[in-house]
Amino acid sequence: MMSHKKDTPHIIRMIRYFAYAVLQLSWGIPASALGFVVFLANLTRPHGFFHGCILTRWKNLSGLSLGLFIFVPEVGYRDADPIAVHEYGHTLQNLITGPFYLILGFISLVWANVPKYVRMRREHDIPYSSCFTEEWATKLGEKALNRPSIEAAERRRWRAKKKLGRL
Ligand SMILES: [Zn+2]
Repeated sequence: MMSHKKDTPHIIRMIRYFAYAVLQLSWGIPASALGFVVFLANLTRPHGFFHGCILTRWKNLSGLSLGLFIFVPEVGYRDADPIAVHEYGHTLQNLITGPFYLILGFISLVWANVPKYVRMRREHDIPYSSCFTEEWATKLGEKALNRPSIEAAERRRWRAKKKLGRL
């Protein structure tokens, strides 16, 4: 299913992106300010616009979302686009929760990186998106951009396994 968003008149899209940026730089400024610092640290990496936010392809192997800025792995390592869809969902979380996004971001970082949780996911085959901050980001990103995120494939795999009774 392809997005029909391209049919949206250019002027409407520009107004939407402008409103998005204004919100990211006001209500969502705490995360955007942090994002700007990370952006500066990755200034030499390739950048681009992604539905109103600023996308940077950095050398890390995972994605990060901080307000107006998202960071995704370089092309060639993994398909960066489905990761960007998920990270875009986090930027919408920042629009909704404003300063409280930092709490969500902290929960996401712990869930993604603390060895205990990494091990738990691997050993018990628990999907990454079973953490509420991640599931919510995925839903927001997929709905806004009308295409699958990185977790879509994982969910399919997980459901198939469950059906086979391996979980
Ligand atoms: Zn996430």
